[in-house]
Parts: sequence; C-alpha cells; structure tokens
Amino acid sequence: MEKLEMLYEGKAKKVYATDDPELLIVDYKDDATAFNGVKKGTIVGKGVINNQMSNRLMQRLARGGVPTHFVKELSERETLVKRVKIVPLEVIVRNISAGSFAKRYGVEEDIVFDQPTIEFSYKNDELGDPLINSTHAMALHLATAEELDTIRRYAFRVNELLREFWASCGITLVDFKLEFGKLADGTIILADEISPDTCRLWDSVTKEKLDKDRFRRDLGGVEDAYAEVMRRLREHDE
Ligand code: UDP
Repeated sequence: MEKLEMLYEGKAKKVYATDDPELLIVDYKDDATAFNGVKKGTIVGKGVINNQMSNRLMQRLARGGVPTHFVKELSERETLVKRVKIVPLEVIVRNISAGSFAKRYGVEEDIVFDQPTIEFSYKNDELGDPLINSTHAMALHLATAEELDTIRRYAFRVNELLREFWASCGITLVDFKLEFGKLADGTIILADEISPDTCRLWDSVTKEKLDKDRFRRDLGGVEDAYAEVMRRLREHDE
C-alpha cells in the first residue's frame, strides 16, 4: 500500500490518497479546536490515542452489526480506511443533557433522558454547522429518506453498543457525534472517528469529565483524561 498525495487537511486529521482508488490513509494530529475553530491548541499525544481508540471502537461496532470505514491500523497515527463520500451531516446522539442541548433549551446538564435523542447538524463551517431537520436535509439533497432511516438506525445501534461498553469501563456515555459516508455503490457506512474529541465521557462514579470539554472549558488535565480513557479501554477491550 503506497501513501500518495495529501487530499485534505482538516482540524484534527490529514487524509491521503493511496494507490488503491477505494482506500485512503487518515493521519491523526495533536491539534485541537473548539467553538468552530475559534479556540485552538494542542493536546499532546491525542492523535495516537484517537487513532487507536477509534479503530478499536469501530471494530467493536462492526462486530455489533454497524459497517464502518475501518480497514487496517498502519501506525500509531495512521489508518487505512474505505474511501467514502461524506454525508454532510453531523449526527448527534444524547443520553444525558449537556453542551449545546442544555444551552439551547435553558436546562442544566446531567438530566438523564428516558430515551436517547438524535439530531442532525448541517456540516458547513461558514454557516457554523446549523441544526437541520430531516425534511430540510432532503430538500437540500444532503441525503435521501432511506439514507436518513439507515443513519438513524445505525446511530442508535452505535449508542447501545458504546453505552454498554463504556459502562463496563466505569464511564458514562453522555453524548457523541457521528459522521456517515457513502461507498461508490451507495452503501452507507460509519466514517470519521469516535474518540474523546467527539464523545462526552464522564467517570461513572465521580462524574469527572474525561473528554474534550476539559480543553473547551480550560479545566486542565486534558492529556491525562485522554490517557485515562485509553487505559480503561485497553483494560476492558478483550
Ligand atoms: N461534537 C463534535 N463535533 C462538533 C460538535 C459536537 O464532535 O462539531 C460532539 C461533542 O463532543 C459532544 C456531542 O457532539 O460529544 C454533542 O455536542 P453539542 O451539540 O452539545 O455541542 P458542543 O457543546 O460541543 O458545542
């Protein structure tokens, strides 16, 4: 497998072409951003942790019936993935109120929902990733009704699988963001990453935040929190 030209550099990852048109290489950086890129920083070692964590979680999800882009871990920071066209929606599932949900509806954090919730944001940096409903997503041809059904079904399945796994690690899965992509034949699969950058993870006993909120809110101990989540994952994954 040959690594060819860089196709794209995002906030946390670089993407490279390979000699196989159906495969890409993702390279995880230590760069961190928040609030739509306004806050910038570095979380030392984050790229290694997010790469390894996302790969382990995606392999677990695949065993649980959710197809993913994961192909092979190539190095500490690099992974071979299936090339997809990203569906330009951020898919957010919540079990407990936090972040923008608490702010938008004027409620406190840590309200445990009777049922998980789902919402979509339109992935568009200039617009600041606005909330979007499924009829609007269809009107803009971001996804079809059938694709949205599949995405919803997979997102809730991911929640069931990850909630149970993180619970076994003594971690509460508060909420998370997923991105899906389409293979050349139209199949929807899970793409992007699953990591403390994209999930809220609280210690089940102390409720200590073990995710990117430590960076967003300047709580300190960011590197230690990421390392602690990774340590628990290794301990409980097989
Ligand atoms: N999230 C993300 N990328 C985004 C926005 C949100 O990964 O661009 C994740 C975030 O880490 C959290 C969940 O999605 O786990 C819900 O985030 P929320 O809508 O509460 O927004 P925030 O408070 O992070 O702005």
